[in-house]
Amino acid sequence: MEAKIVLLPGDGIGPEVMAEGQRILVRVGEKFGHRFQFQTCPMGGCAIDSHGTPLPDETLDACRASDAILLAAVGGPKWDDPNAKTRPEVGLLKLRKELGLFANLRPIKPHEVLLDASPLKRHIVEGVDILFFRELTGDVYFGESGKKPHPSGEEAWNVMIYNTGEIERVVRLAAQAARGRKNKVTSVDKANVLEVSRLWRRTAARIMADEFPDVKYDVVLVDAMAMHLIARPRDFDVIVTANLFGDILTDEGSMLPGSLGLLPSASLGSSGPGLYEPIHGSAPDIAGKGLANPLATILAAAMLLRYSLKLETEAKAVEAAVESVLEQGFRTKDIAAGGPSISTGEMGAKVLAALA
Ligand code: NAD
Repeated sequence: MEAKIVLLPGDGIGPEVMAEGQRILVRVGEKFGHRFQFQTCPMGGCAIDSHGTPLPDETLDACRASDAILLAAVGGPKWDDPNAKTRPEVGLLKLRKELGLFANLRPIKPHEVLLDASPLKRHIVEGVDILFFRELTGDVYFGESGKKPHPSGEEAWNVMIYNTGEIERVVRLAAQAARGRKNKVTSVDKANVLEVSRLWRRTAARIMADEFPDVKYDVVLVDAMAMHLIARPRDFDVIVTANLFGDILTDEGSMLPGSLGLLPSASLGSSGPGLYEPIHGSAPDIAGKGLANPLATILAAAMLLRYSLKLETEAKAVEAAVESVLEQGFRTKDIAAGGPSISTGEMGAKVLAALA
């Protein structure tokens, strides 16, 4: 196949981990006979420096015209001034909005050989394989907000709001993904208290019954889910939830594997390119030292192959290569637990070799 892939290396360790992600995609193209065309564009702090804005029009146009986008990380102390005209993260929010990326996917699958790096006991994390779908464009983050004086000082509010269509589309994506996995969807809400959650629950139940009768379905309250996620995470397959609950639960879930440098994510819309990225930030403390773990970016590239290019075999090959490198004992410093470690480039080279 032919595909146009936009690369957004961003700031800090971004360019270092992106170089390894791109090398893997190039090798996948050669090995499986695909023609991937790459275009690297500025975004984040580096784009503020070069263009005065974190998301230049040319970058947005290139993203719109692409089949998929791989982003490394944006931000850093240089652009942290709260009084600055704009910030690197503004570019990321705008990109998601402009591309209609309403679902954030986060796989939580601890690697067998790193189970002891988890803060939880091995018997709890062993065999965990969860795919989170967090709604990304609604909820309290986008409802009406304001503040006004109050006899005790001030009063402030953010409206939690969803409409039927916003709930339907993310539940549909989650259920479709479940069919290729263990065929189970868990919807998380707070329907015992919140009107908006009662709409969420009714809508999700209807979509599942009408369109996905073959997929197992259950609902869990968000407070209970916070407990189940660390007590019995193995019981879940696909979890779908609203923006605020998902924000908190996915961060809780990201602790299960025990390392930030290993977790990818994807943001998808109904059509058009998806955006793939590691969940970690730009790690300015280790930038330029060859210490960054490129595996999250490489695994984000695998998600890109799976969800945007529909290349499941190729995605699995990349994931298997990462697994094999970890099984062979190779570690970057963040996952070496004080033992011997290799550099960002060496880790990328090991994955390339395993892929061959
Ligand atoms: P961070 O994820 O950048 O770093 C947290 C810690 O994890 C640091 O000690 C870092 O060295 C380590 N770490 C992160 N990724 C690593 C990797 N691949 N390999 C090895 N170690 C790694 O979070 P932070 O320090 O809170 O934020 C730094 C900057 O990144 C801030 O400007 C923040 O706004 C930005 N940020 C961007 C994104 C994004 O681009 N999506 C996400 C989170 C934070």
